[in-house]
Amino acid sequence: MNIFLTKKKTLSCAKCGKAIAQGEAYVAESEKHKGTCFACSPYVNATFLKPGNAALTRRSKKHSSYCGVVYAWNARRKRFDRRGQYVEAEAIVKAQRECEADQEERKLKNERAAIRRAEQEKVYIAEFSKAIRAMYPNCPKNREFEIAKHACEKYSGRVGRTAKAKEFDKKMIDLAVEAHIRHTETNYDHQFGVGKTKRAIRSDVKPYIMSTLRKWS
Ligand SMILES: [Zn+2]
Repeated sequence: MNIFLTKKKTLSCAKCGKAIAQGEAYVAESEKHKGTCFACSPYVNATFLKPGNAALTRRSKKHSSYCGVVYAWNARRKRFDRRGQYVEAEAIVKAQRECEADQEERKLKNERAAIRRAEQEKVYIAEFSKAIRAMYPNCPKNREFEIAKHACEKYSGRVGRTAKAKEFDKKMIDLAVEAHIRHTETNYDHQFGVGKTKRAIRSDVKPYIMSTLRKWS
């Protein structure tokens, strides 16, 4: 079961009937399922573990007979984000001991992973730039690196896989170049905050983006 710091205003507890205010804990499989308030949930005597330590999170979950993950609505990203978990207090203690025991080992492993990631990013940017230049040969000098670097940040989760495949979707390249033109070659970013909708602003700059794409290709 999950614990949602709910974004809804209409939920109530299936056990005690109490109304659950927006932002309060609602315990259910999903926000759409029937659920209870925190006091009626099986986590009422559990211990909360803050997020931020992946090994501690994973290990305390493993050692606990239950695990209630807390999710809070992120309005900007339009999704629920993890905000910690409720597990057995003894499970956290056990996990902490394990983490202390192999702290050095994990530190080295993380360092090696960071180096590997940096190398993959380098390859990704190099390959993506090449692909951009091939599709848009008239793109201004060095812009392909700027665009590729930005795409690398945006798709950081898939960098390893994609760089290895040396394959970039045509659509992905188009979108990256289009976004770059929108932000650097048009007044798109300056049109916000004066009562225009995002859709109107986008359609306003679209013809210029399309003609620039044609010029660059
Ligand atoms: Zn209740």
